[in-house]
Amino acid sequence: MSQDNLAKLECTECHGINYYSHRNKKAIKERLELKKYCNKCKQHTAHKETK
Ligand SMILES: [Zn+2]
Repeated sequence: MSQDNLAKLECTECHGINYYSHRNKKAIKERLELKKYCNKCKQHTAHKETK
């Protein structure tokens, strides 16, 4: 069990960590940016993958 594949998704508006995702080792190294609902912003915002 390694946490190497664990990625956090951080809201680009409030910088809160709202989601966790397990990255596939085969996944592209580029950081993803996803539209997700943020409980703090009360709206959908861009979420960036961070370590
Ligand atoms: Zn937010």
